[in-house]
Amino acid sequence: MPGVPRMNPGPTSGGYSAPGAPGGSPTSGGWRRSAWSGVVAGLGARVDDLLDLVLGGRCAGCDRPGRALCRDCAREFEGRVFAARPDPAPLELPPVFALARYEGVVRSVLLAHKERGRTRLAKPLGAALGRVLATTAGPGDVVVMVPSRRAAIRTRGYDPLARIARHAVANSRLLGRPLRICPALALARPVADQVGLSAAARVANLSGAMTVRRGFASYLAGRTIVLLDDVVTTGATLAEAARALRDVGGRVRAAVVVAATSKGPDSSLARVFGPA
Ligand SMILES: [Zn+2]
Repeated sequence: MPGVPRMNPGPTSGGYSAPGAPGGSPTSGGWRRSAWSGVVAGLGARVDDLLDLVLGGRCAGCDRPGRALCRDCAREFEGRVFAARPDPAPLELPPVFALARYEGVVRSVLLAHKERGRTRLAKPLGAALGRVLATTAGPGDVVVMVPSRRAAIRTRGYDPLARIARHAVANSRLLGRPLRICPALALARPVADQVGLSAAARVANLSGAMTVRRGFASYLAGRTIVLLDDVVTTGATLAEAARALRDVGGRVRAAVVVAATSKGPDSSLARVFGPA
């Protein structure tokens, strides 16, 4: 279907299978094909990693020679989880939780992973996001990541968010919160890159753009969902994702991201969810 990004359940689903959901079976031919296409696409993205090995790597945060993310820069991802709230916030936006501000080292590292093929950063970024996930999600919650644009995946040769998400659920499992990713969302039509658009233009660009994939609607009805993305800026993407999930009866508890451009007025977890 044109405009609908093909999910790559191989690295992202964490073994998820929804009863009756299409493409959920790890033994189906479709799964194998998309897993292989992910492997082939990932080879291009690993060129940077190979160069790191041969030429000596540099930290994506501070550019010092050495590992992909040095110890000093890694500390930027070790902060406390906080509630982020864009102002103004779109109506459908659920509570959003992040652990870093989208600036400085954090921004450099996320961009290096997303735009420059530094795929080894997926592990520390996913570990960070897994901590937000483990703090925010309840037992039995379903994790749904926002869909990536098909054109962007093709250009980059990989899906950055899917890579982070895989490590995030693995880390949340280590932290005692066994969660799985449900590849339920897709884009129903082509959308423009959000970068460079105003807040109002972002909402217009995404309005009604997301849909729940066939076979997932009945599975999600009545379930509690946590949305997953890498960064929140205006909240337009997460709001549209929440709208699509609520339309099929899903209960969107929260959204988790690595970084946010703004903190909420009262950013404590207790304020949003009540005392633990
Ligand atoms: Zn560094």
